[in-house]
Amino acid sequence: MESVVLMYHFINDDNSNFSNLKGISTNQFYEQLKVLLKKYRPISHEEILKSTQLDKFPENTFYLTFDDGTKDHSNNVLPIIKDLGLTASFFPVPQPLIDGVVPIIEKQRFLQYIGYEKYSDFLNVFCSEILKRVPKGKRSVFINSKENIEKSSTYLKHLTYYNNKERFYRKIRDLFLDSLIFEEIINNLFSKFYSDEISFIDNFYMSFNDLKLLISEGMTLGAHTYSHSLLSKLSDEECKNEIVESIDILQQKLLCKIESFAYPNGVRTQVAESILKSSMIKYSFGVGNLKANPKVNRFNIPRIDAASFESFLA
Ligand SMILES: [Zn+2]
Repeated sequence: MESVVLMYHFINDDNSNFSNLKGISTNQFYEQLKVLLKKYRPISHEEILKSTQLDKFPENTFYLTFDDGTKDHSNNVLPIIKDLGLTASFFPVPQPLIDGVVPIIEKQRFLQYIGYEKYSDFLNVFCSEILKRVPKGKRSVFINSKENIEKSSTYLKHLTYYNNKERFYRKIRDLFLDSLIFEEIINNLFSKFYSDEISFIDNFYMSFNDLKLLISEGMTLGAHTYSHSLLSKLSDEECKNEIVESIDILQQKLLCKIESFAYPNGVRTQVAESILKSSMIKYSFGVGNLKANPKVNRFNIPRIDAASFESFLA
């Protein structure tokens, strides 16, 4: 039987301000854990550390990971996993806590799923902002026509929970749109909803004290870059800064050892891997399915997005 590493983001209920963010409810989370505990043996960060020295992931086991450092993790996740005697890894991003700036990834997530009443409302605004900024000859791929949306149906196919509009958005964002234009549009639109980023951050992210609480409860913290940048879009120098700064800040602020890393959006690059290898990081997580073969590159251990958990069980 194969082992599984799960990647979670949002876990909250309808009473949360952020309950639309493609997350799961606390109940669903609890049910998933019950299934996992029946099928597999839970392991700890320490056991992964030992096993990765052999580049072999322990068989028939599961491990839980939580990305991006949102308040859900200390408020909702911690009590549940503590109750079940489990430990897990958390991968916060320092930028909001240090600079008072919400990472672009979170702003665009907010705009897609909370800012507008319907996803298509968001898409209309987003695409029209692009068309204002892109020269005539290059506009056709950014038009949110039925045809273009249909053509995107195979993009990110393995992520079963996206509809075609969401696939279209991700495709133009990832493949066609200049990242500076993307950031400018997202920053602009986000500021219409939240002019005060600090209060958004206070509500949305775990503080350093919350992170200390996780550590005191036996949880493990890992790095996830400084600002949640897509490593494939950075120069070697920028990539190094993103990784090294995230490790240094967490270690200094929390007096803990940072030995693991999660690639933002699962995007691993050769350069990033070699930077990690020359740092104190002992293993890192990507995205994918940990197959029956337990032999694994310890700098790219695949994780399953827990929002696809049902299809994983099927
Ligand atoms: Zn992330």
